[in-house]
Amino acid sequence: MADLFKGYKGRALAALKSFKVRVWSEVHMETTRGEFRGILLPRSESDDDEHIVLKLASGYNVGVAIDTIQDIKEHGYREAHYKIPEKEFPLSEGKANIKLLGTGGTIASRLDYRTGAVIPAFSPGELYGAVPELAEICNLSTEKLFAVFSENMGPEQYKTLAIAIGDEIKKGIDGIVIGHGTDTMHHTASALAFMVQNSPVPIVMVGSQRSSDRPSSDAALNLMHATKAAAESDIAEVVVCMFGPTSDEYGLLHRGTRVRKMHSSYRSTFRTLGDIPLATVDRDKITPLKHDYNHRRKDRDVNIYPYFDERVALVYYYPNMHPDIIDALVDNGYKGIVIAGTGLGHINKPVYPAIERATKKGVAIYMTVQTLWGYVHMFVYDTGRDLMQKGIIPAENMLPEVAFTKLSWVLGQTGDLEKVKDMMLTPICGEITEREPYNGYLVFQGGLPEVEEFIKKHHK
Ligand code: ASP
Repeated sequence: MADLFKGYKGRALAALKSFKVRVWSEVHMETTRGEFRGILLPRSESDDDEHIVLKLASGYNVGVAIDTIQDIKEHGYREAHYKIPEKEFPLSEGKANIKLLGTGGTIASRLDYRTGAVIPAFSPGELYGAVPELAEICNLSTEKLFAVFSENMGPEQYKTLAIAIGDEIKKGIDGIVIGHGTDTMHHTASALAFMVQNSPVPIVMVGSQRSSDRPSSDAALNLMHATKAAAESDIAEVVVCMFGPTSDEYGLLHRGTRVRKMHSSYRSTFRTLGDIPLATVDRDKITPLKHDYNHRRKDRDVNIYPYFDERVALVYYYPNMHPDIIDALVDNGYKGIVIAGTGLGHINKPVYPAIERATKKGVAIYMTVQTLWGYVHMFVYDTGRDLMQKGIIPAENMLPEVAFTKLSWVLGQTGDLEKVKDMMLTPICGEITEREPYNGYLVFQGGLPEVEEFIKKHHK
């Protein structure tokens, strides 16, 4: 009986009883703030007793304050079954064998209606149960390495992943898909790009911005695109595969060292910076946009370098930053610092002595730019020259997060600062490019139709 009102207590429970509605009722609600139609959701035991929560047809959940409710009418009852059926993946001859390594994130999540929170719940059979189209693309096997939201990914997980990828490649897999939370997917992508070199097959990272219980979820399509890329693409690199435009027209394959999450909620959040994406992918085809990538091969001589020194920091410069920020890192034994500086690569004068002290103590300091597009240019202003004299090394057009990952990876292998510099400034997998396309912001970044529409409207 208690389940009829799961999680509701006090005033909220009294309200449900007085309007004769229950959890999973389809309701029409009149309130002082307008009308709502939706399904009445259970609540967590720890929630307040001031709100009733509805799932709207749009997939969004709203909490309606009890005091605003004038009437609730039940017009149906629909108990949700959020358990995805588990099915055995059908294998067919002639299709590529793809391994999906799960790490967690929204793509492997479902809503937990006890707490109302999204929780990681990855199971291989569930994936096929949820997206049967995968069987048309490849023979999929899966392994859950972790079940974490991506803010919990870090060096240990990167190393485990890199080693697992190496093992799969040596065993003969045709392509790898990595399910990952989107928030830090670009960090992991760059770590893997450095740790897994000379891969003969595609390594495709994929996530979803919206969980699969929401109508606008991008989980299924991203997964189809990613498995297609892993099975059929010629691009044997670490790439990120996510929505291209805001619509579901096509996905983009972004190089692991040039990609970044750029919007907190849009599905088209991943953008290639400093370059154009490697390819588009839809359900029928993969269309390369660039040709200078590592091609798929038959041999299995992949190199795995699972190194990462954790005593490296990424410092985002802000005006009036105090030198003690740098001092504190040095005093705590940090061996490397990447700074995301302003403009062409600047920080304020009062920090200079701290920089000098740090480099004299043997800390490797690299400069990147907050603008994300473009190169560090430290010869243009005196200030840049001064900074270089104090030992800061410009990191070309490496993205700040990528320079951070690379420096951690390099310092994990050597403490010889000349060697560190040599490795840092020698491009390994597209993290430094000779030039950036002048119109790269726009070309194939997925925003084009929207941009054109906007300009048509406003610029007549
Ligand atoms: N917070 C989630 C994560 O990064 C978001 C996502 O998966 O999209 O793990």
